Amino acid sequence: MKKTRVRFAPSPTGPLHLGGVRTALYDYLFAKNTGGDFVLRIEDTDVARYVEGAENYILEALEWCGISPDESPKHGGKFAPYRQSERREIYEKYTAEILKTDFAYIAFDTTEELDEIRKEFETKGEVFSYNHQTRNRLKNSISLSETEVQNLLEKKIPFVVRFKMPIDRILNLEDIIRGKFSVNTNTLDDKVLVKHDGMPTYHFANVIDDREMEISHVIRGEEWLPSLGLHVLLYEAMNWEPPQFAHLPLILKPEGKGKLSKRDGDKFGFPVFPLNFKDPETGNISKGYREEGYFPDAFVNFLALLGWSPSDDKEILSLDEMIQEFDIHKVHKAGARFSKEKAEWFNHQYLQKKPTGEILKHLKEIDAVKNSDFSDDKLLKIINLMKERATFTKDIYENGTFFFSAPKTFDEKSLKKAWNEDTPNILNELSERLQTTDFKSEILKENIHQFAETKGLGIGKVMMPLRLALVGELKGPDVPDILEILGKNESLERIEFMVFGVSF
Ligand code: GLU
Repeated sequence: MKKTRVRFAPSPTGPLHLGGVRTALYDYLFAKNTGGDFVLRIEDTDVARYVEGAENYILEALEWCGISPDESPKHGGKFAPYRQSERREIYEKYTAEILKTDFAYIAFDTTEELDEIRKEFETKGEVFSYNHQTRNRLKNSISLSETEVQNLLEKKIPFVVRFKMPIDRILNLEDIIRGKFSVNTNTLDDKVLVKHDGMPTYHFANVIDDREMEISHVIRGEEWLPSLGLHVLLYEAMNWEPPQFAHLPLILKPEGKGKLSKRDGDKFGFPVFPLNFKDPETGNISKGYREEGYFPDAFVNFLALLGWSPSDDKEILSLDEMIQEFDIHKVHKAGARFSKEKAEWFNHQYLQKKPTGEILKHLKEIDAVKNSDFSDDKLLKIINLMKERATFTKDIYENGTFFFSAPKTFDEKSLKKAWNEDTPNILNELSERLQTTDFKSEILKENIHQFAETKGLGIGKVMMPLRLALVGELKGPDVPDILEILGKNESLERIEFMVFGVSF
């Protein structure tokens, strides 16, 4: 059997949106599941929409996700070049070929002329389409005589190449995810295949490259489904065997209606891009999952399940497990609703499973942690204590800032709850007892309980003010655990500060 070859073919018009990353991921999973190749092709024929830095961004994003292509402009490969802007000669050859068939013609209409006609149609309440009904009345090699065409060509009048959509044909199309469906060619227009500048449009370049690069499966976003009829006919025109097609469902907004758009990130407060992207023109930064603190494997796991689920409905899967289990036939037809909570849930799960050494590395990227004189041992204890309630590594620091700096102010409401006139005495006496206690969580716990008991105090009367002295608020992990990590000196200093240093 021939090797499967799957391509991801983004246009470098900006940062890669979540939907694009998921397409790349499914391309990759399908290729690897079937022992095939994953190819990255940069579709940059639309010069007007080209954005500086977008190609590098795409490569960096794929690498961050751990789904590096086997072939790409960076990695090279047997079918190089992998940038469409560098494949002009190949397209020219096939442009000449398709013009010899009955599937293409040249058209001299200028943009202004077409705009004029469009307006005329509008005044009649109709929509203009360059198609089998209008082509005979327009300025092209079908409506003009051969001599007229020759004259225009000699005068170097610019022209485009258009696809000559067959009339009255029912196309029977097949999509791996959506099954079989038909399209009547009369509903399709004569798309431009080659522009005035001699460069092909997406449709033509895409089909040529998929053929040239021996692509076996085209797996791409649902927005390309309406182009499938044209693409299949282009294969027919060129007398080529088409690849198989699969069109992926949309990723929907959190409320479940409408496609998740690039602007939704700002609107709903979550990133829609894998990495931060600085717009070279406006300088605006679009937020990325990486910078937000997501682990790449958690992000990839979350994304993979937006539109596909493995047979046993297992949720936590490594990339290797996903490769094993991936089945394109099981990709859903319906759109997948994006959920920020779910994305965070995945990161939380991965954080719990990560080796603490890896979390330590990330934690030390935070300046306040780096600048503290805490030993790795102490930081590891903080990680173990705090990670259960954390979604991101940074939460370990943010929920545990009291480990790094002693509280200097105490919130009024907590004071009211935890403090009364007996409290200073209680804390002083406790402090004395703790002077001689071994600072191990279990031992501390026992001592504090015994202390409360012998004093005839409810445990809250002791724990609450103690917590306030150590944390500054009435929250955080268990007090004995905090005491152990802070150590004897620091803990007793905090108690003293609370008792003598603050006037209430
Ligand atoms: N260049 C197209 C895009 O950016 C590729 C579509 C396809 O995969 O055929 O969406």
